[in-house]
Amino acid sequence: MRRRVTTGCVLPCLYPKRGTLPPGASVPSTPGRPRFQSRGWLRGGIGRDSAVYAFPTRCGGMMTPESPSDRALTDLAETMDGRLVRAYDDDWDSARAPWNLAIDQRPVAVAYPAGPEDLRRILAAARADGHRVVVQPRGHGPSGDLAGCILVRTSAFDEIVIDQKRRVARVGSGVSWGALLSRLDGSGLVALAGSNPDVSVAGHVLGGGHSWFSRWRGIAARSIRAVELVDAGGEPRRVTADSDPELLWALRGGGGLFGIVTTLEIDLYAAPDLFGGTIVFPASAAGTVFGSVAAIMADAPPELSIFFGLTNLPDIVQVPAPLRGQTIASAEVVFVGTAEDAAPLLAPLLASTPVLADETRPFTIGHLAEVAAEPTEPAATIEWTAAITSFAGGDEAGLGALARAFQEATPAGVTVLGLRALGGAIAEQGADAAAVAGRLDARFLACAGSFLTEQRPADPEAVFGPLRRALEGSTLGLTVPTFLTAGQDLTFSFPPESLERLANVKRRLDPGGIFVGNRPLGPGAAATTDTD
Ligand SMILES: Cc1cc2nc3c(=O)[nH]c(=O)nc-3n(C[C@H](O)[C@H](O)[C@H](O)COP(=O)(O)OP(=O)(O)OC[C@H]3O[C@@H](n4cnc5c(N)ncnc54)[C@H](O)[C@@H]3O)c2cc1C
Repeated sequence: MRRRVTTGCVLPCLYPKRGTLPPGASVPSTPGRPRFQSRGWLRGGIGRDSAVYAFPTRCGGMMTPESPSDRALTDLAETMDGRLVRAYDDDWDSARAPWNLAIDQRPVAVAYPAGPEDLRRILAAARADGHRVVVQPRGHGPSGDLAGCILVRTSAFDEIVIDQKRRVARVGSGVSWGALLSRLDGSGLVALAGSNPDVSVAGHVLGGGHSWFSRWRGIAARSIRAVELVDAGGEPRRVTADSDPELLWALRGGGGLFGIVTTLEIDLYAAPDLFGGTIVFPASAAGTVFGSVAAIMADAPPELSIFFGLTNLPDIVQVPAPLRGQTIASAEVVFVGTAEDAAPLLAPLLASTPVLADETRPFTIGHLAEVAAEPTEPAATIEWTAAITSFAGGDEAGLGALARAFQEATPAGVTVLGLRALGGAIAEQGADAAAVAGRLDARFLACAGSFLTEQRPADPEAVFGPLRRALEGSTLGLTVPTFLTAGQDLTFSFPPESLERLANVKRRLDPGGIFVGNRPLGPGAAATTDTD
């Protein structure tokens, strides 16, 4: 018989609140951010030698942050319709902080443009003072090094227009997934959203984007139909498959290397029925649960998506008593279809081992974020990720070893291990191969994270070493760019021929290298006009 507990507030408690953060970290106040329940997983990075691409990997290449020549920035503050926040402003620390509070980014200024005219002014000031420009709408994918950069926050670009007939959403580059999904609620249409409602649509799709619906409709970058941006010369461009197919290919996964995106048009897909939610199991059953999910996903229809993993819950009152301080295994399910159609697909998982809680139910797209119920409050974390291809000894043995590695890493402070079943449209090239982030030929995406507190500082090797060792010989070496972490460049996501192609687009669009993406092309060789 199934024992059920209410897990509603279990996983929010994982995330350190103000007062438990590392010294120096602060919680930025971001008015207007939507609030959802929190539960979650984390992502992170694997190590690999970098290939060689010679665009700036950091902001400060053109001029040191100590440069006395900040006159244009001073003028910019006076002429902008929006606002320029400088180091002497009261809200400097909250303006510059990214979502991950363990990353201390120090740009020369933070700009809140009111519209495209402000973007032109920002670019002119950057050129005049010798600064570079980085765009960061919501701060979930920071690079860490913003010295010498003007950081642009696009919150004013908040347009959402749903064209039901053409199945296209026109979305401003400041719009979060939570806002777009709320607008889609009741329409019977879905977009290729990820698991977190606080992430921006632009940051997600421009960086590739793994979605609950990616097995069904592909990596989210593929859903970009048109991009409107302000280019390095301050001019507006509308990029489509007709106007500039090579730039569109690059923008579909190449992130913020080519311009300041103001608006995107993305595909919507008909999905009249959605079913899903979280199923919680005892940690002791993790090997069985993981093996069962792998067996189901080996020949599941692409409409079914399952994330699964292990979580160490804190011993605090907010966690239901039976689970306090315990480790749980869980599977998060999203199915495009009815409960009746999902039932036979999930039956082997539910029968494989006793279930602590089964929260699966029909839902509408506006409630998608509740499936994973990830944190929306900023937190201090370290992260690690790898794309898994296969296990020499079979799925059950390999995933079982990974579950044991999580236990081994627990004393060092690992908080969550999340696995996402890939395959389906993610492994297919797509009819037109029109996205640099078009395809990932791996079976699972593994992500692990550790929440940092003053008592628990970061030691990535102790936390993630056991997981990395358990996956030796089983990983692809490349991953979806939105899963890269601070310090990683696009050589961890794309093969050399794609990087060379991206470098060519970069040379054409931004020969001076004014735009710095959070995930640069990589250090080194190819011919460039950059001044680094
Ligand atoms: C809790 C959590 C859950 C996540 N879940 C998922 C998930 O399910 N699937 C997934 O694929 N990823 C996921 N991510 C990763 C996330 O999608 C990426 O980090 C994404 O880039 C974040 O976008 P952002 O705007 O919120 O972050 P930011 O750090 O603000 O932006 C990221 C980068 O995108 C580029 N960019 C964004 N907007 C523009 C623009 N207007 N013009 C030019 N460049 C721009 C820039 O290079 C920028 O540095 C998650 C991250 C977190 C923290």
